[in-house]
Amino acid sequence: MTSDSKFKSLGLSEGILKALQDKAYQSPTPIQAKAIPTVLEGKDLMAAAQTGTGKTAGFVLPILEKLIAGKRATANKTRVLILAPTRELAAQIGESINSYAKYLPLSSAVVYGGVKINPQMMKLRRGVDILVATPGRLLDLYHQNAVKFESLEILVLDEADRMLDLGFIDDIRKILTVLPKRRQNLLFSATFSDDIRKLAKAILHKPVEVSVSPRNTTANTVSQWICPVDKKKKPALLVSLIKDNHWQQLLVFCKTKNGADKLTRFLESAGVKAVAIHGNKSQGARSRALADFKDQSIVVLIATDIAARGIDIDQLPVVVNFDLPTVAENYIHRIGRTGRAGMNGQAVSLVSADEFDQLTDIEHLIKSLLKRKLIDGFEPSHDVPESRLWRKPKKPKKPKKPKVPHKEGIAKKKKTSGKTRSLSNTDGMKPPRRKFKQKKRSPR
Ligand code: AMP
Repeated sequence: MTSDSKFKSLGLSEGILKALQDKAYQSPTPIQAKAIPTVLEGKDLMAAAQTGTGKTAGFVLPILEKLIAGKRATANKTRVLILAPTRELAAQIGESINSYAKYLPLSSAVVYGGVKINPQMMKLRRGVDILVATPGRLLDLYHQNAVKFESLEILVLDEADRMLDLGFIDDIRKILTVLPKRRQNLLFSATFSDDIRKLAKAILHKPVEVSVSPRNTTANTVSQWICPVDKKKKPALLVSLIKDNHWQQLLVFCKTKNGADKLTRFLESAGVKAVAIHGNKSQGARSRALADFKDQSIVVLIATDIAARGIDIDQLPVVVNFDLPTVAENYIHRIGRTGRAGMNGQAVSLVSADEFDQLTDIEHLIKSLLKRKLIDGFEPSHDVPESRLWRKPKKPKKPKKPKVPHKEGIAKKKKTSGKTRSLSNTDGMKPPRRKFKQKKRSPR
């Protein structure tokens, strides 16, 4: 079967097939093969799909197919509403729509906060067939009568899990109350927590459920490893890894905006071109940084978790976790930036002893131990203990005993704190020494 006929057999027509040919897509990805026929049949859809699986085309292509048949949108109206949690993701979806719809007589617009509202109101005046929006700005536009939903046919919620994480649930509820009851609903989420299922129940009508990767697994095209290293040596280790491995394009995740800025300065001073994107940067600065990164005029893009959502860069070869995420599921989101659409990628985490708990949380989530590599000259003096996949279930806390006012007892307790234990394993290979043995020793 030719690539054309593979997409054609899903029910897509000429104008769309031609655009896919331009993109050189060979065959539909699993999510596309499942989602496209379902959406074309007019059914509601609940899809578990991570970024990188081709999910955007999974909903955009059948939506375009359906829209060609109907009447174009009229003044201030929209026929399809796609809600996205971040401006980057919204912009990315907008770009996808433009490229897939380039041979079709359909209009689209993207609206998000942080930029002037007037130009967006102007764009909506004549009506758009597809509107991509972040929830807050959409509500602002609605309250100013810039957008009307009488002709709405389809609602898409993309990265619904992220919407809840970012606290958009109230905005979503408000939006739902102003949409027509009869509509098709599509919900995409990387994971299906109980909260997402609750939201899905409120929105979807007899949905078809599809899942393209089992919950909480990472793409197997990504090779993952960690470098145990002392915290203060992380910046120098990163420079060394970039230079020794001749990395040309990498995305680096930092925990805080401040940390991202500090690391950018360090890399620049070491002669590595780097730029940070995070919530404190203007939309213009963020777009410029992304464009410079895409055309490889900068080597390192440094991002916080929130800023990184929705960044879509084809064939990104390396992702580095400069800091491990505090929420283990973010590890999966982060490394989803590489190894996309069947390409190989590397995900490297720089792990210091104080991040041991985060490391074990991640390893439990992905159900495998991450390979360790010690880099010459960066061997840690505070070791990251060996991790195991087996761990005792946490016992419920016992009620506190009344304090004994005895100095020695207090000193002994301090000596055996979790911190001491977690640093006790010197080569990262031996199991950590058991704390309770120390407790039994008689005081000197
Ligand atoms: P997404 O999961 O929607 O963020 O898409 C991830 C990447 O896969 C994007 O860069 C798309 O251009 C690309 N992509 C989507 N569908 C296909 C396909 N059928 N074949 C090859 N690449 C694709």
